[in-house]
Amino acid sequence: MSMPTANSDRLWSTLMEMGAIGGTAGGGCRRLALSEEEGRARILFKHWAEEAGCVVTVDRIGNIFARRGGTDRDAAPVAIGSHLDTVPTGGKFDGAYGVLAGLEVMRRLQDLGVTTQRPIELIAWTNEEGARFSPMTMGSSVFTGDIALDFALSRQDPSGVSVGEALQAIGAAGDVPVGGRRFSAYLETHIEQGPLLKEGGEQIGVVTGSFKARYFVATIKGQAAHVGPTLMEQRHDAMVGAAALILEINRIGRSRGRDGRSNAPYIEVEPNVRGVIPQEVRLSCDVRHPDADEALAMEAELRDACAKVATDYGLSVALDQYFEFGPINCHDDMCALIRETTTSLGFTQRDILTVASHDAVPMMDFCPTGLFFIPSETGISHSETEYSTPAQCSDGASVLLNAVIKLAG
Ligand SMILES: [Zn+2]
Repeated sequence: MSMPTANSDRLWSTLMEMGAIGGTAGGGCRRLALSEEEGRARILFKHWAEEAGCVVTVDRIGNIFARRGGTDRDAAPVAIGSHLDTVPTGGKFDGAYGVLAGLEVMRRLQDLGVTTQRPIELIAWTNEEGARFSPMTMGSSVFTGDIALDFALSRQDPSGVSVGEALQAIGAAGDVPVGGRRFSAYLETHIEQGPLLKEGGEQIGVVTGSFKARYFVATIKGQAAHVGPTLMEQRHDAMVGAAALILEINRIGRSRGRDGRSNAPYIEVEPNVRGVIPQEVRLSCDVRHPDADEALAMEAELRDACAKVATDYGLSVALDQYFEFGPINCHDDMCALIRETTTSLGFTQRDILTVASHDAVPMMDFCPTGLFFIPSETGISHSETEYSTPAQCSDGASVLLNAVIKLAG
């Protein structure tokens, strides 16, 4: 029997219909976790999943599970999935692609009249991005027990709305306990979000591991004073210290060439008014490198930079870690499965590391987990210009379909 492939037109129109929810004038998507827009996306996804013959359940953190039964009711399911939330400047593909490629798998199995031995569960995880509520990969991390449900529910967005309140507000909280169940495997497909596959011309990137990434909040404290009469030499300006630190953080990443990454993307300033020298700045920052030792060396440089800024500008600077991931090593058997399936379909491939976290990262310690990328045509994501072609999307869904068939028997 020749290998089944995804229905490219159907997958593309599904992606575009989902992308219209929260769609922006620039062609991107703004669908923050547990927002009104994301609530509509959830309803549409559940509707589509039920049409594809799945039974839908939702757990207490809002993770959606669409289950397609197998002939062996007691067998641990094969799980696939990703997320429906986006960052404020997001595109139509980050996250939604993995969920909707999974939906295409369910639809294709229905077209073919195939019943697998194992059940298959398609999951839309809650709050992968961490853009509205920190930390990221929240739903999958509660599912795997890496973070506590009560802690996750208590997390607040910048306007003081908690995850628990937001779940209630859009009717996204389910009654199923979080976690406490087995999967035989988890497979996720995602857009690359970087330029490597596009540069190399490969169709599939088999993720073999991740960068090591460590995330911090730098709290810079100075002294509030009038912006007029205060002499320059008198000042303890926390924002000036932050500016110097941001440049140092950028330098630390750049000094590692293409393997280094360093960021300072989020800043909070107090009192943040025009007439007052800033007395406190909280700067979220991170360092990443494929070599764990090198990532730690970058962190050491970051700590040195904090100390230097404190001395140079008469400030106090504290650096507190709030998140980390990697380096992970993906399961060899799952990498082999993705490689074989890709080869059998006649697609080109390369091995690749993930620099960003994904729901597959917390799942790595939970069950055999595989992750693979399709090319980002523009080489970027978290941007309205994020784009993958219909053929690229379809190729990845075909790999997912055939890998799932092998896993589910
Ligand atoms: Zn994503």
